[in-house]
Amino acid sequence: MRNDDPALFPAAGGRHDGLPLYRHFIANEWVSSSAAPLTVVAPATATPFAFLASGGATEIDRAVAAARAALDGDWGRLTATERGRLMLRFSALVLEQLERLAWIEAHDTGKPISQARADMRAVARYFEFYGGAADKVHGDVIPYLNGYNVSVVREPLGVTAHITPWNYPAQMFGRTIAPALAMGNAAVLKPAEEACVICLEFARLAVEAGFPPGALNIVTGLGEQAGAALSRHAGINFVSFTGSPEVGRLVQEAAALHHVPVVLELGGKSPQVVFADADLQAAATTVCKAITQNAGQTCSAGSRVVVERAIFEPFMAMVAQRFSELRIGRPEDDADLGPVINQVQQQRILAFIANARKDGVPVLAQARPAADLAQGYFVPPTVFGPVDITNPVACQEIFGPVLAAQVFDTEDEAIAIANGTEFGLVAGVWTRDGARQQRLAKRIVSGQVFINCYGAGGGVELPFGGTKRSGHGREKGLMALEEMSTTKTVVNFHG
Ligand code: NAD
Repeated sequence: MRNDDPALFPAAGGRHDGLPLYRHFIANEWVSSSAAPLTVVAPATATPFAFLASGGATEIDRAVAAARAALDGDWGRLTATERGRLMLRFSALVLEQLERLAWIEAHDTGKPISQARADMRAVARYFEFYGGAADKVHGDVIPYLNGYNVSVVREPLGVTAHITPWNYPAQMFGRTIAPALAMGNAAVLKPAEEACVICLEFARLAVEAGFPPGALNIVTGLGEQAGAALSRHAGINFVSFTGSPEVGRLVQEAAALHHVPVVLELGGKSPQVVFADADLQAAATTVCKAITQNAGQTCSAGSRVVVERAIFEPFMAMVAQRFSELRIGRPEDDADLGPVINQVQQQRILAFIANARKDGVPVLAQARPAADLAQGYFVPPTVFGPVDITNPVACQEIFGPVLAAQVFDTEDEAIAIANGTEFGLVAGVWTRDGARQQRLAKRIVSGQVFINCYGAGGGVELPFGGTKRSGHGREKGLMALEEMSTTKTVVNFHG
């Protein structure tokens, strides 16, 4: 794959040091910054392949003003049906250009090409799902006093701000932008500086689909500059933030300055609880996949497995077998997993592994990247166990392919361990006992619980979000449309 192929990077607004330069996208125009551009590095080879404009308060001001003008202009005048049609057209364009877009995403994030293709299909699905829903969100009529007609109408929030992470740049775009546009908001996106060029490619497709200027705006740049300026901006009406709990707190504090509502999708330390009566082969396959997909850089990664003592050894041997067979490679190798995003994350994950070893936690399996991958940001997928709940690998989010196995004797103990971290995003339960399935689904504190499966099918339709330190508010499914809109109660006295 060539880094400088203009056919591959058509949205780039120009060249810088011989590589594509991506500019901000404001009111359907490509906008430059005076600040030096940021270098975008391909994680599989640790080589620069593009540059990103580095925005701050000035560009955020301009983007928020463009969004406000769109609400008062052509975008605000569209009917819900017309908005939906634009979204369906966008969805079709993503599918038409899937292969090119998937290669860009794979290059930018390092993920295997098949996973990048699946991400593009997910983006198309987000726009199909929410585009189809745009004109099916109804208000309400409330029976009230004689002589009164009361209706509750659903309205856009206004200018919505979106701050997204680098692990799934494309999917995050679909997840947060599609419901916002469906409800008639005008969006300003600040994607992650580590990987986001796909968002600018999507911006070009939005123009091609016919979105009027200002409906979608993208300002790239550093979190503490562009992200901070967006979250504290007086002109926004809502913030959707996906990222780390620490930055989530900063964003919520900034939004509180203007009493702006916030949806926070933060990290996780998601457990899969495996009972002795489960289909152990199926569970072992899913447990391995749930922590190695996207090299473990998934907020809902199944980073813990909580196993009944009677089957701990044979079950973990099955998991270990699957880890030993993992293929690690560059995007074009289409392996099971690729590198992690950058050197900082690589060193952070390696430190977790080294410290757990130092603490004497047994290593049950470890797959090694081949020597010819040494240049990229690869890490060895590793299984530790049994791990005490207080050890960092069992209670902190690593955001890498590291699985902590924990052991339980009773159902109550399994639930206590599953609930025993500060997070509560997703959980899995593996048992054939129907009553136990119901008990665990009720008692596990988590935004989603999967029974005899995990993260099934991507789940555009399924409400998603956290409890505890994993955040609050819901995205995905029809609930996202409620989060990204508000109601107005109209009381009409007609005598
Ligand atoms: P991060 O919090 O460092 O960055 C996320 C975004 O916030 C980026 O766009 C960044 O530029 C921006 N940002 C940084 N500082 C900011 C500031 N002061 N003000 C405003 N914005 C700022 O997270 P990350 O390292 O990109 O992503 C990894 C984390 O995201 C993990 O903790 C992971 O679990 C979480 N995550 C959660 C979900 C979810 O849906 N729950 C999904 C993906 C990732």
